Amino acid sequence: MSKLIDAFGRRIDYLRISVTDRCNLRCAYCMPESGIVTRPHDELLRFEEIARVVRVCASLGIAKIRLTGGEPLVRKDIADLIELLARIDGISDISMTTNGVLLKEHAAQLKHAGLKRVNISLDTLDGDRYKAITRFGKLGDVEGGIREALCAGLSPVKINCLLLDGIDKAEVLKFLALTLEDPIHVRFLEFMPINAFYKNNTAISARDVMDIAGNFRGFDNAGLQGSGPAKVFRFKDSLGTFGTIAPMTDKFCSSCNRLRLTSNGYMKACLHAEAKVDLKGPLRNGIDDEGLIGLIESSVRGKPKEHLLGAGGVEYSEYLMCQIGG
Ligand code: SAM
Ligand code: SF4
Repeated sequence: MSKLIDAFGRRIDYLRISVTDRCNLRCAYCMPESGIVTRPHDELLRFEEIARVVRVCASLGIAKIRLTGGEPLVRKDIADLIELLARIDGISDISMTTNGVLLKEHAAQLKHAGLKRVNISLDTLDGDRYKAITRFGKLGDVEGGIREALCAGLSPVKINCLLLDGIDKAEVLKFLALTLEDPIHVRFLEFMPINAFYKNNTAISARDVMDIAGNFRGFDNAGLQGSGPAKVFRFKDSLGTFGTIAPMTDKFCSSCNRLRLTSNGYMKACLHAEAKVDLKGPLRNGIDDEGLIGLIESSVRGKPKEHLLGAGGVEYSEYLMCQIGG
């Protein structure tokens, strides 16, 4: 059981690692049209440095790791990092959040390296809308990635669909239908208003998704027990599940179990707080494991009680989602 307990009694056993701030897409809600100034390579934590942080975190009880970005699959030789992490005692689960564009060519290798499961971000099943949202992505690439992830035995394969402007009932139904005959697990996520350059006014809320699902087919209202913040349901006889994640209308901060490591080596205890603890400088200056433990514990001690999005708190972070990892 994790020894990392914050000031509000939450036990921290999950570390999300952003391995790059670069991306092969430019989703309109995530990156400004002009792109971002990417960090020089030597500012990124090297694989050995990430593995050292994870080893020390594991000694404190972190058991679950998620790789994210930017787009994790554009970081060269990412399977080598997965192999390094999979060998660390105490790490029982390695997952990845990806846009899925490069998954077709990498899924089997990632699985072989020790990746267990994958969340694929896909906000629409319409090719034109996909291109408009991602600025130049091709829907067929992601569809190929999803198929390959299933074939490679990554499990579960989840699809994260952000409830963005333009999604309608017909599209929600298309996503729900994906769960019927394949072990695909769709999560509809509420948008978080963290970037000044994108205003979302979607007509479909997480509550609406549940109403649409209820009118589509029968499912058990009790829901399934998920390990994360999603409320999860399954249609009768279907192989996959669906669910909602509502950080705005149904905050889950009180059960948050996460830390985040940015690609340039800062530990952040909350996606929405400015507080961060530098690990890269100390790592490169020869800090020992005791020192590293002290820094990680100080980050946990600074974890705020909850985010204040939509409640007059700081909305626009110095980091973009593509830099912290979502
Ligand atoms: N490139 C990968 C991908 O797209 O899955 C990983 C990084 S991306 C920043 C991680 C997740 O953050 C994606 O699922 C994306 O939809 C989500 N995201 C980005 N901006 C968001 C926002 N303002 N509110 C909620 N989710 C957001
Ligand atoms: Fe890239 Fe993911 Fe951000 Fe889209 S959401 S721009 S795929 S990092």
